Amino acid sequence: LSADLLAEHSVFGKSLALVVARDGRLPAGADDTVAEAGGAVLVAGTASATVAESLPSASHVWLAETSTGPAGLAESLAPLLSPVELVLLPASPDGRDLAPRLAVSMGRPLLAGAVRASLGGNGEISADLLRLDGRVTVEVRCGEPAVVTLAPGVRTASPRAHPPAVERIQVSGGLAARAGGQAADPEVVALVEPDPATMDLADATRVIGGGAGLVPRGAGDKEAEAVFGLLTEVAATIGASVGATRVVTDAGWMGYQRQIGTTGVGIRPDLYVAFGVSGATQHVAGIGNPRDTVSVNTDASCPMTSIADLGLVTDALGLLVEIAERLDVPVPILVRDAVISSEEPS
Ligand SMILES: Cc1cc2nc3c(=O)[nH]c(=O)nc-3n(C[C@H](O)[C@H](O)[C@H](O)COP(=O)(O)OP(=O)(O)OC[C@H]3O[C@@H](n4cnc5c(N)ncnc54)[C@H](O)[C@@H]3O)c2cc1C
Repeated sequence: LSADLLAEHSVFGKSLALVVARDGRLPAGADDTVAEAGGAVLVAGTASATVAESLPSASHVWLAETSTGPAGLAESLAPLLSPVELVLLPASPDGRDLAPRLAVSMGRPLLAGAVRASLGGNGEISADLLRLDGRVTVEVRCGEPAVVTLAPGVRTASPRAHPPAVERIQVSGGLAARAGGQAADPEVVALVEPDPATMDLADATRVIGGGAGLVPRGAGDKEAEAVFGLLTEVAATIGASVGATRVVTDAGWMGYQRQIGTTGVGIRPDLYVAFGVSGATQHVAGIGNPRDTVSVNTDASCPMTSIADLGLVTDALGLLVEIAERLDVPVPILVRDAVISSEEPS
C-alpha cells in the first residue's frame, strides 16, 4: 500500500499501536501496547517482517520497512495517522523519542507514561498517567485526539485465536531528515549496547533474580549485600541484568528499581534464572513469559520451580559461588564466610 492510498483511505481505524523495531527486535512493552490499542499495530523500522509473530495480541499488523530516524518518521507518519484518534506507543527509548515528535507533527497533545488509555465513544481519550517516579497515577481526560506512551509491563497480552493479517506499507524517507531542517534527526555517531548492570530491567533479555533463599539464615546486612554484589558480578559476566524479590528490596539488599513484580518492574526476558525465589504470585506476575526459566531452590515443590523449565534443587548461594569460581569472578571473603556458616549444623 502506498502512502498516498493510506492517507486517502483511513485504513488504520480509530485506535492504533505504533511500534519501532530495530533489526527485527521489538522493544519491551510492544505487545502490551498492541493489546491496549485493541489489536491494530503499525510496526516501523528495520527488518520488521519477522516481528509480527512476536505480537500475540495483534489482529492486524502493518509493516513499514524504514531506517528513517524519529524526526523524519514523525513527519512522514503524521498525515497517514491523522484519522487515528488514539495513537499508542510503548514508552521504550525509541517510543519516547518518536512520540513527542509525532505529537508536534500532528498538532496533538502527548500523554506520556500511561498505565491505561482508552478511547470513548464520544471521541474522548482517558488515560491514567504515572507521575512522581511511578508513585502516583493521575487520571487525565482529553477531548481531542492524542498521542500516548504506555509504560512497559502494565498490562497482560490479549492473545488472538488466529494469526494477524499482515500488510506492508510504504512510508516516505522523511523530509525532516535533511540537515539543518527544523526537525532534523540527530546524526548517529555510534550505537552502544546498554550495560546489563545499569540498564532498565524492563529492556533486559537475560535476567538473574535473587530471593531471600540466597542469603543464609543468620547472615547480617553486610553479608547479604556482598551476596547480591556477587550475583550482580556473575550476571554481568554472562551479559545478564540482576533483579530481586520484594523481600530483598524491602531489606535494602538491592535497590527498588531492581524489584521484579506487580509492585516493581515488569520484565520480558528470554532467560530468567531465579536463585532462592519462592515464586509468589506478585513476583511471577512480573516475569513475563521467558523462553527459558531456571529455578534454583532447596524446595523442589515451590511455585518457582513448578513453573520453571529447569529446576535445580540445591543451595542457591553454594551454586552461585561455584559458578563465580568457574567464571573467574572473585568471591568476597564475607560471602565465603556466609557459605561456611550456613553449612555448620545449628
Ligand atoms: C501487595 C503486595 C505486593 C507485592 N509485590 C511484590 C513484587 O512486586 N515483587 C515481589 O517479588 N514480591 C512482591 N510481594 C511479596 C511476595 O508476596 C513474596 O513475599 C515475595 O516475592 C517472596 O520473596 P522471596 O521469594 O525472596 O522470599 P520467600 O518467600 O521467603 O522465599 C524464599 C525461597 O527461598 C528458598 N530457599 C531457602 N533457603 C534456600 C537455599 N539455601 N537455597 C535455595 N533456596 C532456598 C525457599 O524454599 C523459598 O522458596 C508483594 C506482596 C504484597 C502483599
